[in-house]
Amino acid sequence: MNDPKSNAELLQRSLNAVWHPCTQMKQHAGDLPLIPVARGQGAWLYDFDGRRYLDGISSWWVNLFGHANPRINAALRAQLDELEHVLLAGFTHRPVVELSERLSALTGGALGHCFYASDGASATEIALKMSFHSWRNRGRDGKRDFLCLAGSYHGETVGALAVTDVAIFKDAYAPLVRTAATVPTPDARLAEPGESPADVARRAAAALERHLAVHHEQIAAFIVEPLIQCASGMVMYDPEYLRLARALCDRYEVHLICDEIAVGCGRTGTFFAHEQAGIRPDFLCLSKGISGGYLPLSVVLTTDSVYEAFYDDATVRGFLHSHSYTGNALACRAALATLDIFAEDRVLEQNVVRAQKLAAAVAPLSAHPRVRHLRQRGMIVAFDVADADPLFSRRFYRAGLEREALTRPIGNTVYLMPPYIVDDEEIAHLGRALAGALEASLQP
Ligand SMILES: *Cc1c(COP(=O)(O)O)cnc(C)c1O
Repeated sequence: MNDPKSNAELLQRSLNAVWHPCTQMKQHAGDLPLIPVARGQGAWLYDFDGRRYLDGISSWWVNLFGHANPRINAALRAQLDELEHVLLAGFTHRPVVELSERLSALTGGALGHCFYASDGASATEIALKMSFHSWRNRGRDGKRDFLCLAGSYHGETVGALAVTDVAIFKDAYAPLVRTAATVPTPDARLAEPGESPADVARRAAAALERHLAVHHEQIAAFIVEPLIQCASGMVMYDPEYLRLARALCDRYEVHLICDEIAVGCGRTGTFFAHEQAGIRPDFLCLSKGISGGYLPLSVVLTTDSVYEAFYDDATVRGFLHSHSYTGNALACRAALATLDIFAEDRVLEQNVVRAQKLAAAVAPLSAHPRVRHLRQRGMIVAFDVADADPLFSRRFYRAGLEREALTRPIGNTVYLMPPYIVDDEEIAHLGRALAGALEASLQP
């Protein structure tokens, strides 16, 4: 490998050879340069010229315990000498067995089997296919539609886009997509005067009931992002919605899919977000943080009842879905090391305190005349900026980088989703960076 000596060199080679995700590449030729990263350490990313950035968004919501984490590194080194990968059809290995057992135990045994893939979107596709196919195996061929919330995000492959309701990701591909129906979001910001977040949740659940009452014979599954619709701007809602949705799905014989790709693994304060509603889904999708942000890994957990719908002498009644890297041993080992850290460091308890400090660091912003709906659940804080112009998020992003902080506002929503290792000084740094970047980016 040619060792780059400076930012400028790597930057030019990257622009010549790499097509970056979620990016209009032409912008990188202008006033929005790429950031070359030489190395990461803890919550910090370092470039080749000695600049550094505090990773306030966990590298797109994946990194839980910092970059170059010594414990995950050690686990991966040990796994490298033992087994890097083997196909999971016809073979099995220790990391995948142990991870499946431990994840199932974390659901209290309610979700007894784990199916693996590499990315979040693949997990969504698997849950949708599995739900449809399990109904079909039970003689309910008519159940071939899906239902999602307005503003939902479940990934960007063509199948996942069917249940994703974010125009910027979807509109160009609309002719390719078999779009699912949407029902109103329980977004707590929609409260009428005198309404509580739970009231908004009940109102949205009533709309869900009206939809299910008419269409349930055709609906295989209802898919939700529990508690927070992250990609459409950290939309937060009351757990009451999940309680009611679970009851309605039971009553109308519709599967409930909880997509915890972003909100699982402790992000909302509990290990799984759905626990805050005291429910269990029929399908649970995990990815992002599950490998500590180290390797691509996704998992769909489901019930024994769904599993049994496929268990048969006929091959075609099985779930004949696969990805080459299904159950990758290194990725599973990274996930096991991640679960070990949760247990050894009592992370959920520590994060209660960390979340309070995060709240205190951004609290002064609530008095800012342009700040609306400052909100938090667990290790996510967010606020909206009133009257933001279309270029606000780009200016804010750059202003954040100038203050040594990686933030990526979604439209007019600014948020923090830091790794679970940020210390008091790093939290204070993020709070100062947000305040400074806000002032710097309000005016074009
Ligand atoms: C990120 C995300 C996905 C898609 O995961 P990828 O690994 O990017 O394909 C799906 N659902 C939710 C809720 C997500 O946040």
